[in-house]
Amino acid sequence: MAKFIFVTGGVVSGIGKGISAGSVGRLLKDNGYSVFMQKFDPYLNVDPGTMSPYQHGEVFVTRDGGETDLDLGHYERFIDEELTKNSSVTSGRIYSNVIRKERAGDYEGKTVQVIPHVTNEIKEKIYSVAEESGADFIITEIGGTVGDIESQPFIEAIRQIHSENSDDVMFLHTVLIPTIPGTDELKTKPAQHSFKELMSYGIKPDVFILRADHPITEDVYEKICLFCDLPREAVVESKTVDLIYEVPLVFKAQGLDQYILRHFHLKTREDHTADWAKMCESFKSAKEKLSIALVGKYTALGDSYLSVVEAVRDAGYHIGANVEVSYIDSETVKAKNAKEILSAYDGIIIPGAFGSRGTDGMIETVRYARENNVPYLGICMGMQIACIEIARDVLGIRDASSLEFDPETKNPIITFLDGQSENIDRGGTLRLGNNDCALTENTLAHQLYGQKNIVERHRHRYEFNNKYKEMFEQNGVVFSGIQLAKNLMEIIEIPKHPYFIGAQFHPEFKSRPNAPHPLFTGLVRASLENRKQSSAKKSK
Ligand code: GLN
Repeated sequence: MAKFIFVTGGVVSGIGKGISAGSVGRLLKDNGYSVFMQKFDPYLNVDPGTMSPYQHGEVFVTRDGGETDLDLGHYERFIDEELTKNSSVTSGRIYSNVIRKERAGDYEGKTVQVIPHVTNEIKEKIYSVAEESGADFIITEIGGTVGDIESQPFIEAIRQIHSENSDDVMFLHTVLIPTIPGTDELKTKPAQHSFKELMSYGIKPDVFILRADHPITEDVYEKICLFCDLPREAVVESKTVDLIYEVPLVFKAQGLDQYILRHFHLKTREDHTADWAKMCESFKSAKEKLSIALVGKYTALGDSYLSVVEAVRDAGYHIGANVEVSYIDSETVKAKNAKEILSAYDGIIIPGAFGSRGTDGMIETVRYARENNVPYLGICMGMQIACIEIARDVLGIRDASSLEFDPETKNPIITFLDGQSENIDRGGTLRLGNNDCALTENTLAHQLYGQKNIVERHRHRYEFNNKYKEMFEQNGVVFSGIQLAKNLMEIIEIPKHPYFIGAQFHPEFKSRPNAPHPLFTGLVRASLENRKQSSAKKSK
C-alpha cells in the first residue's frame, strides 16, 4: 500500500510549495523509497497547454505528451523520475471527465454533485497513480492556497483519502511567516489563520513548513507549536537558499525525513543523502563565470523558460562554471544592433516559441551567432529559425520562411508534417512527448550523446521540409538526428562552426541537476572555450 503525502499552502501562493514537495520527494528517495509525484491545479483549463507562458510560466511536457504545470519540472529534477499526464490534473480535467460520464449515463440517473462525484473523480486520480506507479510514496501538491473557492473539492477529496487510510496519510502545510515592513519582527498570525482554515475543512496538518525572509526565532516556533498543536520537530524552517537544490539538505538538517518516516512507522532503507549533499557542494564551488543570452519572446516573465534556465545552469555547474542566463526580448534585436546586444555573451540560446511575433529578431540572432562563431543552441522554434536563416543567407533563398509566419510563402522551409503533399491539413495537432531519434555517426550530436539512439520530448506543430534537405547538405549543414519512422529531421548542425546545433525537440525537459543534458553541457563547454579565446584576444 502506498503512503500519501499531501502538500498544501497557506497565506499566499508562490512561496515555493513545489520545491518543498520535490525536496521531500528527494529525501524519501534518498532514504531508499520509491516516489511518484502529482500536482492538482484548481483552474478550469483542461491543461496549461493553451495558456500563454505569461499566465502560468513554462508548459512542462511529460514523456507521454502531457502539457503540464511547471512544478512537474521541479519534481522531475528533484526526484529524477519521469512523471506522466496523470501527474498534472486541473479542475478543468476533473469537471470535463465528470460531465463526459454524466452525458454517457454513467451516473445512472443520479443528481451529479461536487460531493461525491467530483471528489470521487479527484480521489480516483490519486489512487490510480498509486496503482500505476507502484511507488512507495505518492506526494500530491494542491495548487493555490487553502481557502480559495476553487481548490475546495481537492481539499475535501484529500480529507476523504485520510479518512479512508488514516495510517497511510500525512498532511504537510507550507506557510509564509511575514515581517512587518521596516522591522525584523516575524508574524505568525497569518499562519495561525491558515491552520484554522485547514481545520475547518477537517484536516489537521502533521507538518508545518515555514517560509520567511529572516531566520525563524525560537519564540515563533513555540507559538506555532502551541496554536497549531504540533510537536517542535514537526515545524520546519525553509530558509531562502542560494541554490534551490539545497532545500532537501535544509530539511534533512532539521530531521524532517526521519520525522516523516517515523510518522509512517518506517525506517531508512538505504541512505543516499550524502550524494545529493556532495552534488550541492560541488555546484557551490563552481568558480568560472559564463554568461548566456536567452533570446525569446516571453522574456518579461522569469518562469517562461524555467527548465531551459535550470538545464543551462546545471550543465554549467558540472564543468565548474556559474552561468548567468540573461533574457533578451527578441523583438529588440535588429540587424543594426545585434552585435551591440549580443557581443557581451559567451553563448546564445533561442528557446521554444509559438507565432510570428519576435521571429525577425530571432533570425538576426542566429545570423550573428553563425557568422561570429558564437556557440548556439536552438530549441524547437530555435532550430526552425536557424533553418530559415541558413536558407536565406547561405542557400540564397531570400523569401524562405515557415508556414507558421507566412502561410503564403513560396519557400516553406518549415512546414506541416504533411507539408510535402498538395492538401495541407492545417488542423494538425502538436507532436507531443517522447519520440525516438537516430543519431548519425561521426557528428557532434553523436559525440555529445555518446550513443546511437535517443528518446526526446516534443511540443510543436511544424517540421523541417525535406524538399530542401539536399540543398542544406550541399551547403555544409548536417542532419545529425532523424526520426526514422516518418523521416523527420530532429537535429541540425554546422560542423564548421564551433558549436551550432538546433534540436526540434526540447532537451531541457530531460535535463537533471545530477545528470545535465548533453546538448546543454556541449553548449556551456563551447561557451567557456569562446570566453577564453575572446579574453585571450582582448589581452593581446
Ligand atoms: N511554433 C513552432 C511549432 O509549432 C515551434 C514550437 C516550439 O518551439 N515549441 O512547430
